[in-house]
Formats: sequence, structure tokens, C-alpha cells
Amino acid sequence: MIELSGRVVLITGAGGGIGSATARTVAAAGASVVLHDVSTDATLALAEEIGERAHRLAADLSDPAAADALWQEALQVHGRIDVLVNNAGIYPPAPLDESLADWMGVWNRSLAVNLLAPAVLCRAAVATYRTQEDGGIIVNLASRAAFRGEDPDYWHYASAKAGVVAMTRTIARQYGREGVTAFALAPGYVDTALNKVFAEEVGVEVAARDTGLGKVAQPQDVANVIAFLSSGLATHATGTTIDVNGASYVR
Ligand code: NAP
Repeated sequence: MIELSGRVVLITGAGGGIGSATARTVAAAGASVVLHDVSTDATLALAEEIGERAHRLAADLSDPAAADALWQEALQVHGRIDVLVNNAGIYPPAPLDESLADWMGVWNRSLAVNLLAPAVLCRAAVATYRTQEDGGIIVNLASRAAFRGEDPDYWHYASAKAGVVAMTRTIARQYGREGVTAFALAPGYVDTALNKVFAEEVGVEVAARDTGLGKVAQPQDVANVIAFLSSGLATHATGTTIDVNGASYVR
């Protein structure tokens, strides 16, 4: 049912857990993928696995202006982009007992990578999609944290992801007539390197107990939803946020 042949998907943070699962899934459905990460080394093995429909680009999104150059480079690869998956993200702790300068430093880095760089990419995507005959799709990785709130050291992360949800809704409302659809995803705990500290210090079983399914999501569980949203089958759901949290937080 999900057919992506001839479509071009740009995935940021494609070397990570959800990003690499997404790349494999949309490529298996026929898409060409532009794989972004901090370095091209991070996506080398993945690109080799996918084959000739994979291209690699690098940009450090802690400088949000780099996101605009990334979009322009990605656009050059096939002359069009059909789907933007804003997936790159960070989850650094900012304990309250750190100095104000350190605490604010984490906030600034988190807002840059988790909100401002995705915003710059969305801005560029809207400009491009307006000129493409069949528009384009934006899929933004938000988080359960945007709705439920987050653990004490992560105010910045919940705030950034809430911003992603509000931005996605705004884009969906304002540019739909010009062919732009936009979706947000709100995963709960997903078994990736992002949660390394939690897994080591608290344990993945604690997160699993919090779900209705009794197990945490794997990257593939999120990738499946991204592939569906990338297909164009969900156009009238534009503006929505899809929860992928095993009923750990039901809104
Ligand atoms: P991950 O495995 O850590 O992947 C994140 C990717 O983003 C990595 O490839 C990472 O590259 C890249 N990245 C980080 N900083 C970057 C920067 N400055 N410039 C460019 N790329 C950068 O995490 P994940 O779990 O797959 O997360 C993917 C998305 O899902 C994120 O937006 C995250 O917030 C969201 N999410 C995850 C969970 C979860 O529980 N895992 C829950 C809700 C939402 P390096 O590894 O090279 O740094």
C-alpha cells in the first residue's frame, strides 16, 4: 500500500536510531533518500546498504543557518524533494544545580538543534514546495514531552518539542492551499542511543512498565508511521500530531 517510487525523502539525523530505520523503510518502499548527519561517515554503512538511491550530506545543525545550506544541497541531488523528515535531535541534561551559564548553554544548544534548525528547514521546504507542482510533505519529530512534560533536567527539550508541534500546526494551516502538508510525531520512549543515560541509570524496563503494551517502541515502530505520512495517503490529517508511545500518555 505504501508506494514511494520516484519520491525524494530528506532525513536529518539519518545515522541515528529512528533516522536509519526511517531511511531503510522509505527506501524499501521505493523512495530515493538523502541522508543527513553531522558527518557523512555516520551514514556511510547505511548508504551502502540502501544502494544507489541513497545520497549522503553533512551539516552541524547546532548552527541553524547550516540547515538552509543543507536544504539547498539536498535539492541539488535530484532537483526536487518530496518529503522532509526533521528527525535530528539531542537530549542533553540541564540540571538545576548547574551554573546559570551552563544551564542556559544547554538550552541554547537544544533550541538550536531541536527547534530552530527544523524551523529553518521547514522555511526552505515551504519555499520549494510552493514551486513544485504536487507540493510536498513535512514530517517533524516532536515528542510526548511536548504534551506530558519531561523529567527535571529536560525543561528545554519539552519546550523545544512543544514549539515543533505549534510550528507544524501553523505550517499546515497556512500553506495547505499551496500544496504543503505538515505532520508532527510524538514518540514516547524509543529504544535508541538518545536514551542511553536513562537505559543505563534507570533501566529500559522502567519505561516499559509505563506503557500499556508492556514494552517500549523500537525505531521501526516510529519509522512505519513516518513512511505512512510520507506516502501522501494522509493529506487530510495535515496539522495533526501522531502519538507513538504505547499508551504511556494518552491525550
Ligand atoms: P539518536 O539515535 O540519538 O539520533 C539522533 C540523530 O541526530 C543522530 O544521528 C545525531 O547525530 C543527529 N544529530 C544530533 N545533533 C546533531 C547536530 N548538531 N547536527 C546534525 N545532526 C545531529 O536519537 P533518536 O531517538 O533516533 O531521535 C530521533 C528524533 O526523535 C529526535 O528528534 C528525538 O528528539 C525524537 N524523539 C526520540 C525519542 C526517543 O525516546 N528516542 C522520543 C521522542 C522523540 P550523532 O549521533 O552523530 O550526534
